[in-house]
Amino acid sequence: MTDYLIKATAFDGMIRAYAARSTQTVEEARRRQDTWATGSAALGRSLTITAMMGAMLKGDQTLTAKIEGNGPLGAIVADGNARGEVRAYVVNPHVDFDLNPQGKLDVARAVGVDGNLSVVKDLGLKDHFTGQVPLVTGEISEDFTYYLTHSEQIPAAVGAGVLINPDYTVLAAGGFIVQVMPEADEDIVDQLEKDIETLPAISKLIEQGYAPEDILHQLFQQTEVNIHEQLPIQFRCQCSKERVERAISSLGNEDIQTMIDEDHGAEANCHFCNETYYLTVDELENLKHTTREN
Ligand code: ZN
Repeated sequence: MTDYLIKATAFDGMIRAYAARSTQTVEEARRRQDTWATGSAALGRSLTITAMMGAMLKGDQTLTAKIEGNGPLGAIVADGNARGEVRAYVVNPHVDFDLNPQGKLDVARAVGVDGNLSVVKDLGLKDHFTGQVPLVTGEISEDFTYYLTHSEQIPAAVGAGVLINPDYTVLAAGGFIVQVMPEADEDIVDQLEKDIETLPAISKLIEQGYAPEDILHQLFQQTEVNIHEQLPIQFRCQCSKERVERAISSLGNEDIQTMIDEDHGAEANCHFCNETYYLTVDELENLKHTTREN
């Protein structure tokens, strides 16, 4: 089953909703990062929510979400865009704890709660949009709920979950975002709160075979859901050897000469996809010449 998200409205457009199945995307991130179970859950929740927030953008707009809770995982960084492409990394992937008292992966303990969630959006304007809130629980979903409600000023509810197999691969991953438009009245908000409270864990629903559409129908049992768009989600990194070369050629010739003399080449690793790029002495010499001619 391929990954995708849907954009929908309910209650005559007064509620906007997104739902995603992201199992394969999170599995690819896990494989590339080699995260252990608790780390995979934190990475997967961040990735899934970022995919849905990316779907709120248009054209070539992009966003980067950074969660820094000062826990053992270190920072989590996730990029998303309007085409459903996401990538993410954690600083320390090898983090795993016993389940928390609720029987769930202890994401809060791995992430920490002493820090911030920040979002930077490149909307194609001169200045980037940035928003930052303190972490509320370190469980990630609640932190994004707080961010959307307080920083972007649209009351929201966010849920995301990841189930991990005993062999550490990803069994199921998915999420939802519900946003309350300003014209929505109190009754709708009250109803929505009750509906979200009674919604079973999202990762369980995905495991049982629920598609994103089924999740929203399950959530909005009292009203009609209008689905406007379906968007595939995939793990996609923007790194390339050309980008590494551009970065190196922007250094001074002296620095490049040092790489040649001391390292006999250059090696660059991408945090996001874990791809390693190698440059030979000859390739470095070429970059140096280009710099000089310019
Ligand atoms: Zn990469």
